[in-house]
Amino acid sequence: MTRYFLDRMKAEQLEDASGHRLHEQFMTIAEIGMTKNQGSRRMGYSKEEEAAKQQVIKWMEEIGMTVRRDGAGNVFGRYPGQNDSKVFMAGSHLDTVPDGGHFDGVAGVLTALEIATLWHEAGYKPKYSYEVAVFSDEEGSRFNSGLTGSRAFMGMLTEGEVDKYKDPSGQDFDAVMDAAGLDRTHFLDAEGPDYPIEMYAEVHIEQARQLEEKNLPLGIVSGIAGATRTSVVFHGEAGHAGSTPMPGRQDALVKASEFISTLPQVAQGISETAVATVGKINVEPGGVNVIPGEVSLVVDARDIDVELQSALIDAVRNHAERTVEGSNVTVDVDLTTRIMPIPIQPEVIEKMEQSFERKGLSPVHLPSGAGHDAMAIGTRHPITMLFVRSIAGISHNPAEFTHIADIQQGVRVLQDFFENY
Ligand SMILES: [Zn+2]
Repeated sequence: MTRYFLDRMKAEQLEDASGHRLHEQFMTIAEIGMTKNQGSRRMGYSKEEEAAKQQVIKWMEEIGMTVRRDGAGNVFGRYPGQNDSKVFMAGSHLDTVPDGGHFDGVAGVLTALEIATLWHEAGYKPKYSYEVAVFSDEEGSRFNSGLTGSRAFMGMLTEGEVDKYKDPSGQDFDAVMDAAGLDRTHFLDAEGPDYPIEMYAEVHIEQARQLEEKNLPLGIVSGIAGATRTSVVFHGEAGHAGSTPMPGRQDALVKASEFISTLPQVAQGISETAVATVGKINVEPGGVNVIPGEVSLVVDARDIDVELQSALIDAVRNHAERTVEGSNVTVDVDLTTRIMPIPIQPEVIEKMEQSFERKGLSPVHLPSGAGHDAMAIGTRHPITMLFVRSIAGISHNPAEFTHIADIQQGVRVLQDFFENY
């Protein structure tokens, strides 16, 4: 595999002191858990994730922030504002997938920290106290879950759920917590804080290429899509591939193929932000010379608005039923998972547009198809998200890259947003 990261970082053009600081901080975090492909390996609750948190805590303390940890290992650094009754919060995560990149998550933590650093240098006090959050195990690589720290912070994780957790080496939840210096009781008590969050902001790399195609450094996230999973099982009849004539066959895979190949139009018929994917199918009995008797597949369908998401779920079901109409194949459709989308309030989007304009950027809106910590926080608090241009849209890969100059645009816009909120 080509090694990109270090050469690209060396070639970065840095405009000012803030750019130099961010560059140095990205390099420092990148060294923790760097893989032989110059990718990143900092699994949730590993010693590498903790080392990255400790480094960020050190930077927080250097500018006088007060740091607290909760039972889920989340880190909160507080920069005092004019009013302490509420907080502005910004952050993301420092864990990565097993051979991931150096910007997913880290970009959100370091932009949030850079805003506090610039305020500290200028002696500026924001309207409300400002907290920089580092949430644990966002990627969920440790337990095959996701948003572990932010969901614990929102009180969304139960005893029953963590009991099911096992890491790739077979360790259960308690063993992983123990090794990380944490424990179940405090983890399940991590819900907080007991003062209101006025706004949670997260800057994240786009992990797609829309901004690059539009030649823009930064975009406003218009909503976070909620994933739904629909199980679709086509029932036909298995038979000999040689001796069964074509007329009268009950080939479940032929019907499943029709369903899959026309699914894109179904999603496009709902909205511009709807997406639907079949990523896995199972064919039974699965012999080269056997007519497929049963095909089961799962449709992953997402949209950013609750009503559009409902319409999408119905459309997937109708599409499956229509596909088998008039044939001798039958279908069972079952919605197995539905995660509600997280909307972003129109007035928050409007305020963000004003910040873009003040900073000389044209505001463009993008839906977030992937989940982020903001998704957990957004279940109860107002949120906003910014996407920063990803080179070639690559993410969860050592070749993931985002220019420091683009990340600095995120710092400027978000700083302006908080200062004028
Ligand atoms: Zn992320």
